[in-house]
Amino acid sequence: MISYMQMEKEILNLIKTSLRILIITHVNPDGDTLGTASALKSYIGEKADILIQVNDKSLYPKMYEFLPHINSALNFSNVKNEYDLAIAVDVASIDRMIGNARKIFENAKNTIVIDHHKTNKGYGKINYIKGSLSSASEVLYDLFYQEKKEITEEMAKGLYCGILTDTGCFKYENTTPKTFKIASELANCNINTSEIADFCYSNKPKNLILFQNYLVSNAKFRLNDKIAYTLITKEIISKFQATDEFTEGICETLRSIAGVEIAFVLKETDLGIKVSIRSKNLDATKITDKFNGGGHRRAAGCTIKLKNINEALEKLIKQAETLL
Ligand code: AMP
Ligand code: MN
Ligand code: MN
Repeated sequence: MISYMQMEKEILNLIKTSLRILIITHVNPDGDTLGTASALKSYIGEKADILIQVNDKSLYPKMYEFLPHINSALNFSNVKNEYDLAIAVDVASIDRMIGNARKIFENAKNTIVIDHHKTNKGYGKINYIKGSLSSASEVLYDLFYQEKKEITEEMAKGLYCGILTDTGCFKYENTTPKTFKIASELANCNINTSEIADFCYSNKPKNLILFQNYLVSNAKFRLNDKIAYTLITKEIISKFQATDEFTEGICETLRSIAGVEIAFVLKETDLGIKVSIRSKNLDATKITDKFNGGGHRRAAGCTIKLKNINEALEKLIKQAETLL
């Protein structure tokens, strides 16, 4: 087993010696994958590009537009297969890279995975994965720390965004004393932390709030309210003209209800039923393991290859019942 210190040396060396570098975010990008990609691009500079995995370049969550380099990132239609180093950030498994992203990653001479998902088995040449850290941004901070290079304002913005969003504003159990220490270091880098929080949380489209309220008011409960869930059909998606980012936060709201141990949000997609799980104490990955998904103890996800959303729901509930 290669040590973290050796990995850090090799990663920093590969970044220095590679000619063209592609940073790849996961599908349905969030604040952590985008913030980490933004900070890494700020660090590397000109020779790095970011690929955001969305079909239409305007379709990443708009609130993250404030992040440096995200507006000029590539998408599936304009990315070329010309990179000697590919770096996946916050991408829990190779399945979370689709289309030409996966091809380019596999074709690159060197590949690096920078991640914090405990279910990540490591699919790169170097797998810099720290399952106990709050966010991929916290993992990247560790790498920068080794380099002993000054964190610029641009880099700090991305890292702070990743940590803030993946810890649910420093609320989740993945928030450690070290997380606060790093946040404090970043806050000293001339960034406006309250403005970043406003970009992330007070800038939502009107339709998103109406959509989320509809889904919360249509939530259902099972097992003496220990299980809460809501179902997002294609019909509801089109009624509210919802994009992927619209679902973010609904599952947390259901979990926040007293007595609820586990919450599910199920969504009809062309690839099957996309499932989000949030738990209070149970290990949610014990459920997603059964459906080829993954994530963290209290936040996990998977896509169940079924067309019928109710059928997928019953399968999930059956699994949850074995844990409750
Ligand atoms: P989500 O509910 O989509 O926000 O996902 C919750 C957590 O589970 C995130 O950390 C995701 O990266 C992870 N996750 C979601 N879907 C998958 C999947 N199919 N495979 C592995 N990890 C996933
Ligand atoms: Mn993520
Ligand atoms: Mn993350």
